[in-house]
Amino acid sequence: MPAPEPAVHYRIVPRDPAAHIFRVSCTVVAPDPAGQRFSLPAWIPGSYMIREFARNIIELWAECDGSIVACEKIDKATWQCEPVSGALTVHYDVYAWDLSVRAAHLDQSHGYFNGASVFLAAAGQESRPCRVQIERPEGDRYAAWQVATTLPVVAGTELWTSGAYQAADYDELIDHPVELGTFTRAQFLACGVPHDVVITGVHRADLTRLCRDLARICTTQIRLFGEPAPMSRYLFMIQVVGEGYGGLEHRTSTSLLANRDDLPLAGDDPDAVKDGYRQFLGLCSHEYFHTWNVKRIKPAAFVPYDLSRENYTRQLWAFEGFTSYYDDLMLVRAGVITPASYLELLGQNITRVLRTPGRFRQSVADSSFDAWTKFYRQDENAPNSMVSYYAKGALVALALDLALRRQSAGAITLDHLLQVLWRRYGLTGVGVPEDGIENLVVELGGDSLRELFQQAVYGTDDLPLAELLTVVGVEYRLRAAESAADPGGKRGSKTAGKPRPALGLRTAQDPLGARIQHCFEGSPAMSAGLSAGDVLIAVDGLRVTHATLERMLGSYPVGGTVTVHAFRRDELHQYRVTLTEAPGDTCFLTFAGTGPDAGARAWLLTAGPG
Ligand code: ZN
Repeated sequence: MPAPEPAVHYRIVPRDPAAHIFRVSCTVVAPDPAGQRFSLPAWIPGSYMIREFARNIIELWAECDGSIVACEKIDKATWQCEPVSGALTVHYDVYAWDLSVRAAHLDQSHGYFNGASVFLAAAGQESRPCRVQIERPEGDRYAAWQVATTLPVVAGTELWTSGAYQAADYDELIDHPVELGTFTRAQFLACGVPHDVVITGVHRADLTRLCRDLARICTTQIRLFGEPAPMSRYLFMIQVVGEGYGGLEHRTSTSLLANRDDLPLAGDDPDAVKDGYRQFLGLCSHEYFHTWNVKRIKPAAFVPYDLSRENYTRQLWAFEGFTSYYDDLMLVRAGVITPASYLELLGQNITRVLRTPGRFRQSVADSSFDAWTKFYRQDENAPNSMVSYYAKGALVALALDLALRRQSAGAITLDHLLQVLWRRYGLTGVGVPEDGIENLVVELGGDSLRELFQQAVYGTDDLPLAELLTVVGVEYRLRAAESAADPGGKRGSKTAGKPRPALGLRTAQDPLGARIQHCFEGSPAMSAGLSAGDVLIAVDGLRVTHATLERMLGSYPVGGTVTVHAFRRDELHQYRVTLTEAPGDTCFLTFAGTGPDAGARAWLLTAGPG
């Protein structure tokens, strides 16, 4: 069947890579007779913050039949054109210099864009088919540039080349990011579906190993939700950098930002998974899980998205938290990491939450609601005022999983809940109502789970994880951090040693000394009057830096008092601080027996691919 005639035609050209300028045009075949409006989204789905992409539009003009059409900007992101009879085209330049997964980036080495940051929506035409002509820059030096995207090609355009691509509507158009350049490419199959990997940037990654591991993870996830997979093709787009981390999910692809050193290298021990690679695989697994959870199973508040303003929901803890729980769980079920390695990751996540005093001030439901102004705009007081709906959301998922297993003697698990969500909401396109997950937990686990759900999602008390983990034969243990860099998850080497003195703050490097990033509520530092932003320069008259502060404090006994000199702005202040014992906020988990028991095996080792 031929594709329906497009109602809107886009064309995007990297017009001036050195100046980071894309030239875009948008032609509406049958514009609004009362005058066509165009607007650019204020945010991109998956990243819940108002970003005002239209601020990067530099110049815009409109034409019809070769004549200029008057076009007035009427708010921060909207243009109103005069009525015309005939096809209307707007032309504009977009400044693209944001090397993140959320917007657009262009230089002489590559181009990347998300449709939300470059393609104007034509009002009233959003649900109609559109077509986009993707060009490479002019000139011989760009002749080898290819195009990576899961936007479907129009007949006549070959995959991986510049040419014509199509989308059924505007929502689809902006859900397929595009990479242009001379990237590295590899492919694997998962449940018969081709999965491509595209890497941009300088790297020496072992693509064979990466594809082998990703294939296991993707297969495990497809089987969790049930075959067939909801897409006929999938693309991992990886931008490699020296230092960076991030990912954004799309319906049939994901954009990832990764450290070069976190990728596997030829010559790495094939039986070992280095920490950075484990984290990178966790990120891939996370974004891939969103293919089901949030791209197709969506909160009702996102059906459809309103891209002009904040879309409020108290459910992000489930869409990000369930996904954060399953991202690492899929690694162990896929056989990519060991059960002990998984317990280490889980212990680290518990530690992250235990080191957030704000968990007593904000529930994960409220954290979800306020994502736009709090989670995505964290300031120096964030650890004291808020909780991450990712980190605690994953623990809520764990608690619900364990409670369901206990309630049903292992017959019902969180896997079942996700499968019901998939059938009821994912496959139907119906949004999940705000009380939908709570009702489903009760439907599957009985009324006795309602109290746990209410406490976990709407309350601020700590979750009863120590007790629940016994369901899978896991012991929950706490100790003090051994250093500021101690992420938890491991037994620790010096737990038998003397108590460690602490100030209750986190510092960063500063040319003058140690700059306080966060000062924890109720800490000795805060009680003494120190604050985030202050720069510590001396303890008892001796110079300190970010690198030496910890060692210096370690020489004092718990309960000892020190004199601290610190700058607040350009004013020098002196404080007397009494050191307290570092709190037992560092978690590690162990199997109660000699290894995983039957409950733990059902939890960690089911559903792996053969
Ligand atoms: Zn996510």
